[in-house]
Amino acid sequence: MDILLMHSSALIIAPASPKRQALTDALRATSLFADVCMTTNGQSALESVHLRQVAMIFCQQQKLTPSSLDWLKALKKKEELSDIPVVVLIEKGEASDRILALDLGACDCLPADICGQEMAARIRAHLRQKERMDHLRQVKSDLARLALTDSLTHLYNRAFFDVTLEAELARSVRTGKPFSLMLLDLDHFKKVNDTYGHGQGDRVLQEVAKCLGRTVRRTDTPCRYGGEEFAIILPETNAPQAFTLASRIHKSLQAVSERFGLLGQPITISIGLTCFAGDNTISPQDVVEQADCALYAAKRKGRNRTEMFSPEDAFLDFLPPHASQTGEYAFA
Ligand code: GH3
Ligand code: MG
Ligand code: MG
Repeated sequence: MDILLMHSSALIIAPASPKRQALTDALRATSLFADVCMTTNGQSALESVHLRQVAMIFCQQQKLTPSSLDWLKALKKKEELSDIPVVVLIEKGEASDRILALDLGACDCLPADICGQEMAARIRAHLRQKERMDHLRQVKSDLARLALTDSLTHLYNRAFFDVTLEAELARSVRTGKPFSLMLLDLDHFKKVNDTYGHGQGDRVLQEVAKCLGRTVRRTDTPCRYGGEEFAIILPETNAPQAFTLASRIHKSLQAVSERFGLLGQPITISIGLTCFAGDNTISPQDVVEQADCALYAAKRKGRNRTEMFSPEDAFLDFLPPHASQTGEYAFA
């Protein structure tokens, strides 16, 4: 049996009675639970499953009434609790009662006088099933995380960026609230790799990602856009607020750069910004193109700086690169 289940409780829902005591003793005798706790009604059971780790629920009733399993319906509607196996024990039950309990989501419906050994065998079967479900849920959440995050930096990946950008842009159109996109590209990163090796380059990327994660708000979405490029989706953010964030990023990177100490070679980043408020004519692709255009303007104008998209910059992208693009830093 899974070690986690051994540390979980069984929860009995039943009025205090000798029968409840007998059930408690029977459950303790199985040695399958760390603890057996009790409550007299379904509502307090729903509260108690949030407070403790409950492996299984046993509901002991003399007779089912139309509302006596309302709590079970409520439990099954809660995603995080719906897998807890529920056994209903009825003293005076007809087949129709057992059908009702099973249809409402009980994993078993048993006569109250079931023999202890059979009860233990059934509990083991339900706990094994629960263990398989927990494992599958874990695998599903691991796969979802792997599909949406970048393995080097643990930021969201390009696939997640694409989906989130579309959703946030649509939300901004719906609400009329401002929306900004920030594209960031490390300056002269090739030289970091060439000088210090790819491994050190990877560590720089990880530090930069951590720095971005620390600097943004909870509602912002920092992503690794690709290579040494990052993107941050900024809902409900206007141009001055986006500039403020950009300047915090430049400052935080300075601190990272000093800590890294690549023989005086600074780690700097160029940032392109674009901002909207409820514009329903713009597509996600347009937004990315504008931020990219602003990013190139930041590179052209000397790097380690932030530029806001302006339509004039779009034309400059067709001109030959400015001299400053060849690099202004001395590398060791
Ligand atoms: P610029 O200031 O114009 O952006 O110059 P740059 O050198 O940063 O740009 P360039 O496009 O010439 O080079 C990008 C470099 O980023 C080259 C590539 O090897 C490196 N890079 C991309 N992805 C990774 C990665 O995952 N790990 C490491 N170590 N390097 C990477
Ligand atoms: Mg690049
Ligand atoms: Mg670069």
